Amino acid sequence: MQGKVLIIGCGGVAGVAIHKCCQNSDTFKEICIASRTKEKCDALKEKLQGITKTKITTAKVDADNKEELVRLIRQVEPQVVLNVALPYQDLTIMEACLETGVDYVDTANYEPEDTDDPEWRAVYEKRCKEEGFTAYFDYSWQWAYKERFEKAGLTALLGTGFDPGVTSVFTAYALKHYFDEIDTIDILDCNGGDHGYPFATNFNPEINLREVSANGSYWENGHWVETEPMEIKRVYNFPQVGQKDMYLLHHEEIESLAKNIPGVKRIRFFMTFGQSYLTHMKCLENVGMLSTTPIEFEGQQIVPIQFLKALLPDPASLGPRTVGKTNIGCIYTGRKDGKQRSIYIYNVCDHQECYKEVGSQAISYTTGVPAMIGTALVLNKVWDKKGVFTVEEFDPDPYMDLLNQYGLPWVVEENPILVE
Ligand code: NDP
Repeated sequence: MQGKVLIIGCGGVAGVAIHKCCQNSDTFKEICIASRTKEKCDALKEKLQGITKTKITTAKVDADNKEELVRLIRQVEPQVVLNVALPYQDLTIMEACLETGVDYVDTANYEPEDTDDPEWRAVYEKRCKEEGFTAYFDYSWQWAYKERFEKAGLTALLGTGFDPGVTSVFTAYALKHYFDEIDTIDILDCNGGDHGYPFATNFNPEINLREVSANGSYWENGHWVETEPMEIKRVYNFPQVGQKDMYLLHHEEIESLAKNIPGVKRIRFFMTFGQSYLTHMKCLENVGMLSTTPIEFEGQQIVPIQFLKALLPDPASLGPRTVGKTNIGCIYTGRKDGKQRSIYIYNVCDHQECYKEVGSQAISYTTGVPAMIGTALVLNKVWDKKGVFTVEEFDPDPYMDLLNQYGLPWVVEENPILVE
């Protein structure tokens, strides 16, 4: 059957992506939702099946197990697998797609669950030395599949969330319509929402806390510059949100944009954090709660950050209590027709509006909508290249249209205030 997708994972982001697939039944004729906990898939199916033309089935799968995935893909026979589980599963799902001849889509690049694994560490340490950034995640693992996907005549679309994802499409759009050459890119991720808890993360706590407690880094003049965690702070007045403190982080789209945007001189990524979030995070880090190394506790092995995840509010439960808006976008400087130019492309998303529409907060919403859009473009063969690609490597126009259509309208502002 044409228009059939297997969606792996049924957490916060998946919930939104699945709602959006069901709003787009002409493209998504049938979806199978498969995750570790099948009850979550069944509950979502129950909620949606009366209000959509999309046919929904569910399954249980351990996506760390390639054979299980291959069996499921053969049974479901989808054209595309959308991976909205965790970055730990990227490689097993890509392997299963290659074995079964199915296109692959995800929202986050590969990261190992066990960063103490000696085999992974050896490759990681070599990369740190050669490339000059120490983040646990990078594209090399998935880019290594390029030739195999090409030969199999399959597409792997990596990182179609908001950042990475929409921010990368914004960049392709800026280059296509506004610049002959882009000199600098500042990606600004502002969450002006308030969930009322002293401390909670907006998406998977383990992945989120690993990311924000790591060293920062940015790309400048052909190489990486690494900083201490939260070393570089700026203040920016975000349209519709207001003034916020933001901090420079390493982020995965910097790596692919540095490769794909010819002549770009500097790429930075900033995310807003309140003082209370940072104080809580520092404290948890200082007592060892962010560690991924298992410890022995009363005869049992536990991973501190996984135990912390069990204590923190489930990001999927923040929807009803989060108020305020997000503003995520990119500021570009460069040249057009020999003249200097600067523009800011951004989207503003309201947490409560998202909750009313799909029952989730804006962080899951801003990731789940682009996950559906990227999958739709691959499924409809509007984006049709064989190999492994990030989203800025395709024509941005159809994606930008679908953002407007499916709840993430964007604005282009000329001459914005630049980040120092
Ligand atoms: P959640 O923790 O809410 O959901 C993850 C889901 O994956 C859960 O349903 C979980 O199942 C399932 N899962 C985990 N391990 C396995 C496994 N081995 N086999 C099958 N299913 C599994 O995460 P989020 O929804 O917050 O995040 C999903 C993805 O989106 C992540 O990769 C994250 O990095 C990415 N992301 C990307 C962003 C972007 O802008 N690009 C922004 C935010 C997130 P169970 O419920 O049974 O545990």
